[in-house]
Amino acid sequence: MMVQLEELQNEAEGEIGAARSEKELLDIRTRYLGRRGILTGLLRDISKVSLQDRPLLGKKGNDVKDFLTEKIDMALSLIRDADKEEAIVQETIDVTLEGRRIKPGRLHPITQVKNEICAIFSSLGFSIEEGPEVEREYYNFEALNIPDDHPARDMQDTFYIENDILLRTHTSPVQVRVMQDQAPPIRILSPGRVYRPDFDISHTPMFHQIEGLLVDKGVCFADLKGVLTIFLQGVFGKKTIVRFRPSFFPFTEPSAEIDIQCTMCQGKGCRICGQTGWLEILGAGMVDPNVFRNVNYDPDEYSGFAFGLGIERVAMLKYGISDIRLFFENDWRFLSQF
Ligand SMILES: [Zn+2]
Repeated sequence: MMVQLEELQNEAEGEIGAARSEKELLDIRTRYLGRRGILTGLLRDISKVSLQDRPLLGKKGNDVKDFLTEKIDMALSLIRDADKEEAIVQETIDVTLEGRRIKPGRLHPITQVKNEICAIFSSLGFSIEEGPEVEREYYNFEALNIPDDHPARDMQDTFYIENDILLRTHTSPVQVRVMQDQAPPIRILSPGRVYRPDFDISHTPMFHQIEGLLVDKGVCFADLKGVLTIFLQGVFGKKTIVRFRPSFFPFTEPSAEIDIQCTMCQGKGCRICGQTGWLEILGAGMVDPNVFRNVNYDPDEYSGFAFGLGIERVAMLKYGISDIRLFFENDWRFLSQF
């Protein structure tokens, strides 16, 4: 048996030396040292030899076991190191190769103009309020004094989702929601997306509006004029000439449209302003008493003004862009100019 153990050790050592992969080594370990391995079997048989020979054979058996275990572990760690080296060589990166240039992101021109407008009104004490884009008919129309037979309620001008659920056509519903929740004084600005079924060089089905509302005791039309003049001169420059024209909106009375002198021709008349010398920018007016009644404000105690404008329109005039659709085509060549 002593000889058997010797032979087994030599045989196994030879196999370990010849093994070229981790798997081969693991197989060898199982074959010799596993629970049903050859050496394990031999060691078990030692119990069958005479008591006298047992200690010597037992010691030899354990020596062989330790020897082989160590050999296999060593060979395994050598092979694993070699694999690692190999992987490092394979995965080497050529640092001299020029990388792909990463273009830094930037804010969309609409966002830039929106932020600019919000900053001007924030400096006048207005806070930003937002509301749902999917809105109830009540908030979009009824609460704003837009009666059932008003053309704006026609299916052609509004995306309806269900009977009384629609995509808001303006950001004015936010005013109603804020007034329902809060008592005056109120000074808010609500920017956001609005939806109308139009599509041409100056209309897209989705566009951005900013609406403002100021309610307090003793607010008059002069306040409206003052605030909006400061705003327009902030966006278009200190020397901007502003004009107020009477107009009509269901939710304000009196109402006005506000123009600035054409920024392209300085009032001489050009293609952009349709030869009039003026550009229409804002709609505004004193809040209609009916709107106040709908939110339980006393129109004899409080007055206020509201205004609204399209952010795309401001951006187009500010940057001299002739087609609104350019804003939504996501063309890097266009967007990178801002
Ligand atoms: Zn002009």
